[in-house]
Amino acid sequence: PLTIGVLALQGAFGAHAKVVAALGATPRPVRLPEHLDGLDGLIMPGGESTTMLKSLERGNFYDALNTFVHTTPTFGTCAGCILLATDVSSPAQKSFAALDITVQRNAYGRQLDSTILTEPTTLPGGPLEMVFIRAPRIDRTGPAVEVLASRDEHPVLVRQGHILAATFHPELGHDTRVHQLFLDMIKA
Ligand code: GLN
Repeated sequence: PLTIGVLALQGAFGAHAKVVAALGATPRPVRLPEHLDGLDGLIMPGGESTTMLKSLERGNFYDALNTFVHTTPTFGTCAGCILLATDVSSPAQKSFAALDITVQRNAYGRQLDSTILTEPTTLPGGPLEMVFIRAPRIDRTGPAVEVLASRDEHPVLVRQGHILAATFHPELGHDTRVHQLFLDMIKA
């Protein structure tokens, strides 16, 4: 089976590991740069991207992860999506620039900051339930980015080559199609 790392510095990593295991792959928590060795893919979970960055900037973890995400299948959700983006705003912060999008943090404001929506998707199987928690909003996608689902005309699920990203939390819904897509991307 595939071995899928789940970045486990902070945030919603446990639920991702459960979905990965339910789909027949082996999850492995990634807490140190050497845990990246031999992975078939990596999930960067939601949480607080600034806090994750601070942990990553100790030692050589940021550089090791930078090399990894530019060469190996990686799926970022919410804070993970922010870390993969080319441009981050409100406030701006460092990111891996592995996914050609501009993303605005906490863009939905306080009243609407957490919500569950069901929106159409190009994935087979009909509309997808999406759990948004203090979600970022994708304000620009580059030409290489494929949009798989949107909310109010802003992309919420995107793919660029070996990178998959969601501004919502697919690990908290009841639908495993997004994780299945990631595993299928790795196998392809
Ligand atoms: N607001 C968080 C950030 O800016 C992301 C929220 C999430 O991952 N659910 O990093």
